[in-house]
Order: sequence, then structure tokens, then C-alpha cells
Amino acid sequence: MSFSELGLADEIVRAVTEQGYTSPTPIQKQAIPAVLCGGDLLAGAQTGTGKTAGFTLPILQRLNAQPRTQAKTGRPIRALILTPTRELAAQVEESVRVYGKYLKLTSSVIFGGVNINPQIRVLNHGVDILVATPGRLLDHMQQGTVNLSHVEILVLDEADRMLDMGFIRDIRKVLAALPKQRQNLLFSATFSDDIKALADGLLNSPAMIEV
Ligand code: AMP
Repeated sequence: MSFSELGLADEIVRAVTEQGYTSPTPIQKQAIPAVLCGGDLLAGAQTGTGKTAGFTLPILQRLNAQPRTQAKTGRPIRALILTPTRELAAQVEESVRVYGKYLKLTSSVIFGGVNINPQIRVLNHGVDILVATPGRLLDHMQQGTVNLSHVEILVLDEADRMLDMGFIRDIRKVLAALPKQRQNLLFSATFSDDIKALADGLLNSPAMIEV
């Protein structure tokens, strides 16, 4: 099974091949087709399994293949990826850039602990894919500097760690600001009752994968 057989565009396969990836990992083999179908996904996966490409590759594919809906101004955020830490947010956004280097999609990352003003400028300009930590995203929402009304795909990456870090209330506020019609992907290494409750409320007949 190759990346092209999974239904990814040549531009994406070329970028992945340049990274030295010869074949998809087990989670990628399952997650990529599931995400390309457009449905929700519940994935049990540890770090190191290739989970990041498991969701970033099909997101790039979907956004690249579908014309963006016309927003009144700017370039609306079409995919929102939430991660527990700034390090992970930066890594995920770097992956989006690397895998999407031959596409015309834009991405950015926002996290706390740094000056908010450069982030405001980037958000004002508009990006297709935003990677964020929940707290700083909420700051932007409260200041009115981010528009989430065109988000088509939401990812909760390392959802268990986000809950452990106390982000559940922030996450719920973010969810309330998203369009109802969207694709939801939840990745978690563990499945506590809290994660199950979050998944139950968030996901609509999800595909389930576990590696
Ligand atoms: P992750 O689990 O997403 O943090 O990825 C772990 C590491 O595996 C990263 O350094 C990726 O660059 C690498 N990786 C992801 N997919 C593949 C693949 N299909 N073949 C080889 N390496 C990969």
C-alpha cells in the first residue's frame, strides 16, 4: 500500500517521499482513507506512530481538492488543530508546511507565552489551517481577533493530555464557536471516562481506529 494508493494527490506524495517516507504507517493506512471520506474519526494512537501525518495529509488533500467557500473578507480558517502544548503545536504546523509545500494552502501556529500581536497580524491576513493551543486561541476569540465561522475540519490532537492539563472548559468554548456542520477528528493515547464523554458529545458516528 503506497501513499498514492491511499488517494493522496501527487503534490502531497512528492512532499512525503522527499521526507524519506516509503510507505504509510499502520495508523496512516487506516486514518487517511477514513478522513478522506469526510466522516468523524476516533483514533487511539501514541506519539511516534506517525499520527501527525495520519491527519495532516488527508486534511491537506481535502482542502486542496475542495474550493473554499467564499468568506466576506480575508482567507477563512478551514481546518483547526488543537494541541496541548506549544512544542506540539509548532511540530504539527511544521508538518503541515512540509507536507503541503507543493500546495497553495497556508498555515499558522498560535500559542501562549509569546507576544500576541504578530499572531493577530497573521490571523488578520488569514490562513487555511490553524494549529493552536486552547488557552491562546480563547484569548484571540475573546479579543475578536480570530474568526472560526468557516472551520470545516476540527482536530483534537493528544486530547487526553489536553484534558489532563485542564483545557476542557477552553475546548468547550472553542467548540461552541465552530459551525455545527464540520468534520471532527479526535486523537488520544488513552481513553478515560472524560475522554469518552468528550468524544460522545463531539463525534458523529465516528470511524474508530486503534494502533
Ligand atoms: P508522530 O507519531 O506523528 O509524532 O511521527 C513520528 C515520526 O515518524 C516523525 O518524525 C515523522 O516524521 C515520522 N513518520 C511519519 N510517517 C512516516 C512514514 N510513513 N514513514 C516514515 N516515517 C514517518
